[in-house]
Amino acid sequence: MDTRDLLSSLPSVDEALKSGYGREWLEKYPRRYVLDAIRETISLRRKEILEGTTKEVSLASMAPDISLNVKRLATPSLRRLINATGIVVHTNLGRSILSERIMENVSTIATGYSNLEYDLASGSRGKRHTHIKRLLREITGAEDGFAVNNNAAAVFLCLTALAKGREVIVSRGELVEIGGSFRIPDVMSHSGALLREVGTTNKTHLHDYEHAMSDATALILKVHRSNYQIVGFTEEVPVEKLVSLGQGRGVPVMYDLGSGYLIPLHQYGIHGEPAVQEMVRSGADLITFSGDKLLGGPQAGIIVGKRELIEKIQKHPLARAVRIDKLTLAALEATLMEYVDGAQAKEHIPTLRMLLEDPGTIKTRAKKIASLIKREIKDAVLQVLEDSSQAGGGSLPEVEFPTYVVAIRPENISVNELEERLRKGEPAIIARIQGNSLILDARTIGDQEITAVAHAVTAALR
Ligand SMILES: *Cc1c(COP(=O)(O)O)cnc(C)c1O
Repeated sequence: MDTRDLLSSLPSVDEALKSGYGREWLEKYPRRYVLDAIRETISLRRKEILEGTTKEVSLASMAPDISLNVKRLATPSLRRLINATGIVVHTNLGRSILSERIMENVSTIATGYSNLEYDLASGSRGKRHTHIKRLLREITGAEDGFAVNNNAAAVFLCLTALAKGREVIVSRGELVEIGGSFRIPDVMSHSGALLREVGTTNKTHLHDYEHAMSDATALILKVHRSNYQIVGFTEEVPVEKLVSLGQGRGVPVMYDLGSGYLIPLHQYGIHGEPAVQEMVRSGADLITFSGDKLLGGPQAGIIVGKRELIEKIQKHPLARAVRIDKLTLAALEATLMEYVDGAQAKEHIPTLRMLLEDPGTIKTRAKKIASLIKREIKDAVLQVLEDSSQAGGGSLPEVEFPTYVVAIRPENISVNELEERLRKGEPAIIARIQGNSLILDARTIGDQEITAVAHAVTAALR
C-alpha cells in the first residue's frame, strides 16, 4: 500500500465511535472526551503515515492510545500523589493531610444539611463560629476565637478591622515575606493600616516601641519570622513586655504566629517555636495562625484572643468575604477535638505523627521499600541511609528531623530520567535528586503507599 492508500484506510471518527471499542468508551466517559481522544489519535497516526514511520491503520492498533487519551482527559487535574520528599508540611503538595477519622466528619456534614448557622436550642438563626469557639477556648486558654479562610486572611482582617487609617508598630526584624507573596509591609498597606517600623534588622529594643507610641497607634504587631532566622548580635522584645507597654496606653498586642502548634513540642526535643497556649498566657491580645501548618488541619486562619477584639473583628464586613466554608469548618472542628487530649493528637493527626515519628519506624519502612525494589531490579544501587527531613511550610526552619531514605543510583537510565518517570507516573511520586542518586524519604510515605512506591520505581527502572 502506498501512502495514499494507507491514509484512506484509516478509520473515520464515526467508525471508531460505532465500533465495540467506541461503545465501551462511551459507557465510561463523556462523549466529548471520547471524540477528542479519537480525533487526536487518528490525526497523530495520519502524521506518522505521512512521515513514513508506520503502516498500521487498524482501529485495533489505535485503541490502546485512544483509551489512554480519553482516560487522561477524564481524570481530574487535582490528583493524589505520593510525597517522598520527607517535607511534612509541603505547601506545594497540599500542606497537611487529614486522617480518615477527620474526613468521616467532613463527609457527614458535606452530604447532608447541617446546623451550620442554625441554633437548634432556640430554633432560630445561629452563627457558624459557635461550632469551634468552645474548643478554641479550651485548647488555647484564650477568651474567644474563630476561624477564617487562611492565616493571610486572618492577619489582613485583623489589621483592617482594628487599625485602618491608624498606625501599627512592627519591628524591622519582623517585616518578613512568608512566601506566596505574603509580605507584611504589603499586607499592611492593603489593609489601610499605616506601618510604623521600629528598631533595626537585628535588634529592636523596648524603648524603640515606646518612642513610636502615640495617639495614632492602633496596634503593636509581632510577627513570627517562620521561615528564616536572625542569629548573632540580636535582640527582640518578648511578648510580655510588649503587652505591659500596650496595656499602659490601651493598645492591644497582636501576634502573627504562623505555624501555630498546640502541643508542647519541647517534650520531643523540638525547640524554637512558641506554642499558641504560651502566647495566650503571656498576655497577647490577639494571636493568628494557620490551620494547615503544624496544627495539621485544613487550610484555615485561626484568630484567638480577647473577646471584645474578636467580636469587633467578626462584625467587620471583610469577615464575611474571608469566612470559612462548612467543609473546612467540619474538618477543623474534628481536628481540634483530637487536641482535647494531647497524646491523642500526636497519634491521630498525620502531620504530628509524621513529624514526631520514631526514626526506627521510618527505617523499617525505608527497608521495606528497598527490599521490594531489590527483589525485581538488579541493575541499580540501592541503599537505606540516614538523613534528615524538614518540617516545611515555613515552620521550624532550624530543626532537623532524623530520618531514613532509600537512595537509588540507576545504571541504565539517568537519575534525572528516573525522577521524571516517577513524577509523570500514576500515582505521581515526588522525590529529590542528590548527586547521582534519587532520594525517597520514608517519613512522608504512608504504610499503605509502600507497594505503590516500590512498583512505580521498579517500573521506572525497567
Ligand atoms: C504561613 C504564615 C502566614 C500565612 O498563612 P497562610 O495560612 O498560608 O495564609 C502568615 N504569617 C506567618 C508568620 C506565617 O508563617
